[in-house]
Amino acid sequence: MPQLALYTGPQRFMDGAAYRDSLRQYSPRVFVDGRAVESVADDPAFVPGINALAVSYDFALDETRAPLMQAEQTSRGRSVNRMLHINESAGDLLNKLEAVRLLCQETGCAQRYLTHDALNGLAQVSAALDDAKGGREHRDRFGAYLAHVQDGDLAVGIAMTDAKGDRSRKPHQQPHTDAYVHIVERNARGIVISGTKAIVTSAPYVHELLVMPCRAMGEDDADFAVCCALPVDAEGITMVARPAGRPGEKPEHGAPLFSRRYGQSTAVVIFDRVFVPWERVFFAGDWQHSEVLTYSYATHHRHSCIAARAGFGDLLIGAGALMCEANGFDDPGAKANLREPMVELIKIVEGFYACGVAASVYGAADPRAGNFMPDPVFSNIGKLLLATQIYDMHRLAHEVSGGLIVALPGPDEDHNPATAASLADVLRANPAIPYDKRAETARFMEDLTASYQSGWYSLISLHGGGSPAAMKQEIWRHYPVGDKVALVERLLDRGVLDNPDRPITRNRQPGRCCDAGCAQPGQAVMVPLPRP
Ligand SMILES: Cc1cc2nc3c(=O)[nH]c(=O)nc-3n(C[C@H](O)[C@H](O)[C@H](O)COP(=O)(O)OP(=O)(O)OC[C@H]3O[C@@H](n4cnc5c(N)ncnc54)[C@H](O)[C@@H]3O)c2cc1C
Repeated sequence: MPQLALYTGPQRFMDGAAYRDSLRQYSPRVFVDGRAVESVADDPAFVPGINALAVSYDFALDETRAPLMQAEQTSRGRSVNRMLHINESAGDLLNKLEAVRLLCQETGCAQRYLTHDALNGLAQVSAALDDAKGGREHRDRFGAYLAHVQDGDLAVGIAMTDAKGDRSRKPHQQPHTDAYVHIVERNARGIVISGTKAIVTSAPYVHELLVMPCRAMGEDDADFAVCCALPVDAEGITMVARPAGRPGEKPEHGAPLFSRRYGQSTAVVIFDRVFVPWERVFFAGDWQHSEVLTYSYATHHRHSCIAARAGFGDLLIGAGALMCEANGFDDPGAKANLREPMVELIKIVEGFYACGVAASVYGAADPRAGNFMPDPVFSNIGKLLLATQIYDMHRLAHEVSGGLIVALPGPDEDHNPATAASLADVLRANPAIPYDKRAETARFMEDLTASYQSGWYSLISLHGGGSPAAMKQEIWRHYPVGDKVALVERLLDRGVLDNPDRPITRNRQPGRCCDAGCAQPGQAVMVPLPRP
């Protein structure tokens, strides 16, 4: 991997509390539920989101998890949070996968992996720009930005999805030009941008935003091909956010609603003539390179989504088994009608996760930037599987749990002297499991599979990282159908190679794995994490 500017200063890792505190140094203009936010760090609407992101900081400093959650950026001679790491090997891809799964097991969705995915995509487009134009301006600019993000241990929101307006029209054809973020002015000091990014996860409680185009651009759309970074409180930025998780629900009653503790905010981010200095502009007008960035970012991101949803799946598997037990089946494996849906759930989760593992193992170094990118076919198949099977995951969790998860009286009844005792009596199932534990598991399951927040998990799975059509397009674009056609033609003795330009044989790829294999003999590919 090419050397980036070598960092010689102190290594900084924030813990969760320091991250939360660091947000006070910024004063973004944020609205939530129709009101202005005074202090993001203190606003109850964002506490679950900040809690979840803070876990990515705390885990990196936790002695047992640090070997996985920190990564060695050898090109810079320092350790960094894995969510900010530029992958240097297939093992890094596997470790990132495992790290994201671990974070999402704990928080439902830890959000910060988007930063990892965007930094890796940005490394690739910067190298592509230099190779096309000559020089190293873009590599150096990216290197300086990477040092800024890694050394500051920053949280960066990824502002890619534009408002897009009329989907049947290109950016320059939109009646409202602010449907896409675009350059409105260039001067000696930098650029000025306006427009709207429609869905930015964690935007209010990150330090910076990385603005990227959301589609391949044509020449007419050159002004919309803009990629730059800026602090969240840059003048001219307004965020209109949703609360993270379910922060307002019954905090006084102690029902352990997962989404009261952990959640994710998304914001519409409006840019109104926002100035960005040249040192933070990665490209401006280079429409030919939008595709390199969107493709690279999407491949990294879909690979991360696989791990994120596997972490969520782990929660459903654990809660499903606990519901079976609370209902009276200590061993759900002994009953075929419970074992089968549980196995189906496990098959789905580990099935798409296996695609993530395969994408890592078959990952390859980007020929220009040198960082490792997961295999696009396996990344897209894994993401496509989870995008649609998330609904089956919910169904299977419901099947083993029973209807109580949406029918149980609310947590207020747990404290009602007129009803609490008799409810605890009549709604107990397994004599070994007290009613409050059964209710707790049922409410946890409701939270994850039958609430507003469960809809969030469905939608992030289906559309986050791109809608299913985008994955199908990438699978078809990269799958070596041509090799399979050649195989059959050879078996039929038909001599396909005589005409290599037939559309059906065009998509051919060399063997994916290198001769040396992905690890040296005796060397672990992944950092082994102690298991409890
Ligand atoms: C919870 C959540 C969090 C997210 N977080 C982020 C984030 O942090 N940063 C970020 O940048 N993005 C984020 N996204 C956005 C995500 O990448 C988009 O939702 C996704 O790319 C789809 O875009 P869209 O929602 O605008 O849907 P649309 O583009 O409106 O698509 C809707 C449907 O129309 C189809 N369609 C759209 N255009 C066309 C066309 N021209 N021709 C034919 N069919 C078409 C699509 O295939 C899809 O089936 C997030 C999304 C969700 C749900």
